[in-house]
Amino acid sequence: MIALNGITKRFGAHTVFDNIDLELEQGEIIVIIGPSGTGKSTLLRCINYLEAPDAGRLTVGDLSLDARHATRREILALRRRTAFVFQNYALFANKTALDNICEGMIVVDGLPKAQAHARGREILERIGLADKADAYPASLSGGQQQRVGIGRAMAAKAEVILFDEPTSALDPEWVDEVLALMKQLALERQTMIVVSHEMQFAREVADRVVFMDDGRIIEQGPPDELFTNPQDERTQRFLRKVL
Ligand code: ADP
Ligand code: MG
Repeated sequence: MIALNGITKRFGAHTVFDNIDLELEQGEIIVIIGPSGTGKSTLLRCINYLEAPDAGRLTVGDLSLDARHATRREILALRRRTAFVFQNYALFANKTALDNICEGMIVVDGLPKAQAHARGREILERIGLADKADAYPASLSGGQQQRVGIGRAMAAKAEVILFDEPTSALDPEWVDEVLALMKQLALERQTMIVVSHEMQFAREVADRVVFMDDGRIIEQGPPDELFTNPQDERTQRFLRKVL
């Protein structure tokens, strides 16, 4: 359903990763863990072409493209099938919570404003912010802002939501409400790839945990296997530090 085949990314002379393969089924929840600087964010960004891969093939649902020679049209099609949740929320500061959620539905999907707003209000309800429709990001807590960020991704009705350390910029008091919303999406079997240091979340929610180090997928498996019986010495060392 989602496949990365031979994805390669370089920044100048620096190869971040070379020939990465990763496949997900519809409804699968993957958590990617690993030391910082290892290429987790870059890999996630390659999946929706926030970074252009240097080689490989990307497949999301019925769309499959040669990542190096992707046309503008293919890139737009890829972006519609993938939604991104950023560490720093990346909300429009001059738009209300409702308008942040509705922007894509209006601009990308071409929905009439009234229809977009109706759906936007449903999403605000689901993310527990029905009373914040008219609030601007600056007046919201970090946790509320990130829930809006997730609401915006939900509005895209993407085949997969990509989360890049969605709780690591939050004050500790706001982490749980964001993780709870992500758990809710997981229970609804929203396909997601989550880069996270929240090991408890990975344990509870992931179907599969992928450990990356130095631009490579070192090992992957169900959380109870990977956390209790890691095979590779690098995984063992990493887990000793974070668990
Ligand atoms: P992680 O998310 O695992 O911490 P990143 O994907 O952010 O790792 O970074 C992987 C490597 O790619 C790092 O060496 C980082 O310095 C480099 N890198 C990331 N983005 C850029 C960029 N835009 N330009 C140059 N190098 C980058
Ligand atoms: Mg990162």
